[in-house]
Parts: sequence; C-alpha cells; structure tokens
Amino acid sequence: MKFHVLTLFPEIPRAFFETSIMAKAVTRGIIDYNLVNIRDFAYDTHKNCDDKPYGGVLGKRVPGMLMLPEPIALALASVGVTARAEGSKSGLQRKRVVFCTPSGKPLTQALAGELAAEDELVFICGRYEGIDQRVIDLYVDDEISIGDYVLSSGEVATTVVIDAVYRLIEGVISSESLEDESFSDGLLEYPQYTRPEIYRDLTVPEVLLSGHHEKIRRWRLRKRIEKTLAFRPDLIEKMRDSASFSEEVELIIKELENGIGFNSQD
Ligand code: SAM
Repeated sequence: MKFHVLTLFPEIPRAFFETSIMAKAVTRGIIDYNLVNIRDFAYDTHKNCDDKPYGGVLGKRVPGMLMLPEPIALALASVGVTARAEGSKSGLQRKRVVFCTPSGKPLTQALAGELAAEDELVFICGRYEGIDQRVIDLYVDDEISIGDYVLSSGEVATTVVIDAVYRLIEGVISSESLEDESFSDGLLEYPQYTRPEIYRDLTVPEVLLSGHHEKIRRWRLRKRIEKTLAFRPDLIEKMRDSASFSEEVELIIKELENGIGFNSQD
C-alpha cells in the first residue's frame, strides 16, 4: 500500500511514517509513502496557498482563510490523480482521494478496512477554514471525519486515518492481535493486565491466572459486553438490529440488562 499525503506541513506526517511500527512496515516494504508539499505548486512569488473566502456581506468579510484550489490540483496531478469525471487516463485504476473534514462521514473500523484494500490512497490535508469546494467536487472520493470536534490541522486527522488503515494491512501486525479488538465484531475490548500480579492492592482477576481456556474466553466475552453496554450501547443496538450476535452474546446481554454495572475487577 502506498500513501500519498498532500500537505503544507510534511514534517507532521513524516514523524509518523518514520516511527515505531509504521517505520518497520516501511523498511520491510509493506508500506510506501510520498509526502508532497502543496506549497511547491503555488504559482505566485510569495508561494501563497490560501485566500479569503467569498460570501462577505455588508462590508463584513467571512472569517478565516481557505486553501486555494490550483496548488492542490497541481499537487494531485503530480501524483497521477485525475479529476473523477476523467477516470484514469493510464488505464490503471484511479487512485482514491480522501479529504479529512469535520463535515465528512465518520471514520469507522469498517471504513478503515475498506480503505486498507486499496493499492494507493491520496490524502489532501486541509488547513485554515479548509479547502475550496471545487477541489472536493472535482477530485475527492471520500470526505472523512475523525470525530465530532474541530482540529486545526488536516495533517493530524489524516495521520489518524492512515494509522487506522495501515495496521489492517497483512504483515503489519499479527492477525491474532486484531482478533477481539474493539469494533472487530461490534463489541469493545475486554480489560487487560500485565505484571505485577498485585499492583497498589489491585489484583489481576483470578480467572486470568487459572490457565482455563474456556473460563477465560467466557470471562472476556462477558467483560466485552458489559463495557459495550456501559459505554457504547449504540453499538449493541446496531448489532441487534442486524441480528448479528450469537445466542451466547444475546443471553449475556439479557442477563446484564437487569442492571449489573461494569467492574474490571470482577
Ligand atoms: N471550517 C471547518 C469546519 O467548520 O468544518 C474546520 C476547518 S479545521 C480548522 C482545518 C482542517 O482540519 C480541516 O480542513 C480538516 O482537514 C481538519 N479537521 C479538523 N477537524 C477534523 C475532524 N474532526 N475530522 C477530520 N478532519 C478534521
């Protein structure tokens, strides 16, 4: 998988690509990346990439600045992206273009999985008040929000999306690590413990020391359901609506719906 990141601040995503698990995936050739500085495609002497938005009334201008369309379009062309209406000129599949914005569709584990199936992804990082709508209309395939809050930087949002995507690519992390993770099957993850066995008077739940495979499985499943009911009942509702839970899960939900709260020490 190759990530192209179009940005005014390449140093922000660069730190991510050069650190820890991502750096290893790059060294092993599983991931490739290309940071494109949009300012290299500015056409005036000041290398300007933003301007005032239209729409001011009664002499009062719209607050903030907006990224200009042409430097972004040229940066997109430099990585071989054509306008959506033109399709792919090379005969190869057109690269999917993502723009992170608070007004986009929510980033979910399912969407991350869908993006992980692409060979290449192109991200446009917004700054200021965002980018000119015509860039979105012409080029963007996915507008994605990472949550109901506003960041100052598309670089941070883009890095979040890339992080959610690249770890799902085969070979980046072990497939066992992905099993039972939060959202993998509509439930949040169970509580986890490491050494020491007693920490500030809090002990590791005995069942985890028992070595009893089936008891541990049942304990973990129950804890996952408890936590999901407590923190994200919407996830339970969604899975129930689509009749996606096993009989065992349905039974535990019914037991817990009688009012038992979440306690990681049980
Ligand atoms: N004026 C925009 C609005 O109200 O929707 C906010 C612009 S924000 C200050 C600057 C950039 O940060 C955005 O263009 C976007 O790329 C990024 N950004 C901020 N919050 C985000 C979020 N929740 N999800 C995805 N991207 C976000």
